Amino acid sequence: VTSFKNRTVAVFGLGASGLATAAALKAGGAHPILDDDTAARRAEAQAQGYDVRSLRDIDWNGVAALVLSPGVPLTHPAPHWSVGLARNAAVEVIGDIELFARERRLMQPDSPFIAITGTNGKSTTTALIAHVLKAAGRDVQLGGNFGTAILSLAPPAPGRAHVVECSSFQIDLAPTLDPAVGVLLNLTPDHLDRHGTMADYAAIKERLVQGVQPGGTAVVGVDDTWCQAIADRLERAGTKVVRLSVRRPLADGLYLDGNEIVLAEGGAKRFSVGLAGIGSLRGVHNAQNAAAAFAATTASGVAPAIAAAALKSFPGLAHRMEEVGRRGNVLFINDSKATNADAAARALASFEDVYWIAGGKPKAGGIASLTGFFPRIAKAYLIGAAAEEFASTLGDRVPHVIAGTLDNAVELAAADAAAERRAHPVVLLSPACASYDQFRHFEERGARFAALVGALPETGASGT
Ligand code: ADP
Repeated sequence: VTSFKNRTVAVFGLGASGLATAAALKAGGAHPILDDDTAARRAEAQAQGYDVRSLRDIDWNGVAALVLSPGVPLTHPAPHWSVGLARNAAVEVIGDIELFARERRLMQPDSPFIAITGTNGKSTTTALIAHVLKAAGRDVQLGGNFGTAILSLAPPAPGRAHVVECSSFQIDLAPTLDPAVGVLLNLTPDHLDRHGTMADYAAIKERLVQGVQPGGTAVVGVDDTWCQAIADRLERAGTKVVRLSVRRPLADGLYLDGNEIVLAEGGAKRFSVGLAGIGSLRGVHNAQNAAAAFAATTASGVAPAIAAAALKSFPGLAHRMEEVGRRGNVLFINDSKATNADAAARALASFEDVYWIAGGKPKAGGIASLTGFFPRIAKAYLIGAAAEEFASTLGDRVPHVIAGTLDNAVELAAADAAAERRAHPVVLLSPACASYDQFRHFEERGARFAALVGALPETGASGT
């Protein structure tokens, strides 16, 4: 990135995105100074030849910007110390997506830029959009919060599309984010430990669609009141909005009717996309993601028929409603990415006789919002730090056991599901919690689940 040529830029947080930022700044002629709270990461950056110093000891008057990793607190529970030092010296605090947005404007204002956010479904929708664009023959770069760090992607070039997943933390660090197509899927409580209130969290997410370039399109799911209000505000401000609903018909926009996504204009049906039988898009929530991908890609010039056909060949993503095995008639589903109650709700809504493995590092609100799905749960197997809390919410309404570990939970759930012989048994890992109490990340939790399922003995023929 060239926007800080010949200037000094502080970079705090040396994970994949921080190191990609440092490399991009250096390549663009800037002088990055790197720091991290962990010694191992500092040593790693030093070994790569970077100027690594404590940002406590530098002269902030000579610094043009602080580029912060999205994992480092900007506001809650308190700003990280490096943010305080930058602000005292009136140095701007930004993230890698902001650097990308600035570079894009300098280089190729017409290279397509699609940004995606929402509480749930971001990665699936980002992957779906990239999949459809590729099927339409486009040159596509996918990254951001999901997959490759944005500054490790190939740079903007004529006709090259960037499809970028943005977390709320990344949007907070990208004050001039200006996608050609901005997608806001949904808003439910999550990450409130880092954003304070729901209103603060929603306001940050809203910024991604507010920033849509003139002539661009905002794609907004309107099934929650927060997003509904945002769509209304955007429209009043003159932005082109495509609304999505999986709950009710819309006169204008995309809505779910049975197994079809219908595109309506002025009350008339213009096009429909059949979703029946697409295993990778199981569940109503995936209809929302598919509708968003259809809207975003057609807004980017893909013909509706090509977009509709491409959705059918989407292979799906690991750890999101992923089928990882079958024993007899028992299906095993890895939904390790369901790190909050709303995501787990979508999974529970997709099945009937659920042997539910849940728990981990708890989030505010717990599973109190899931009572409507309790009748679908045959039994719950509770793990991690949230186990006691979840047990008390389930109370005497749902049979449950504190399994402690995932290993125990899989063994118990598989045995019960095989023994009880219900009609549609599913052992579902959809934890409604972060994984950090017992695993490094949700991928490790999901991989462990898949390995445990793989190691279960093959059962004899079912129904005998
Ligand atoms: P994100 O990147 O926003 O975390 P993912 O696509 O990785 O989203 O999905 C995360 C979890 O949320 C999964 O458990 C998935 O089943 C669930 N989910 C996916 N799409 C949606 C949606 N549109 N609404 C609610 N939940 C969803």
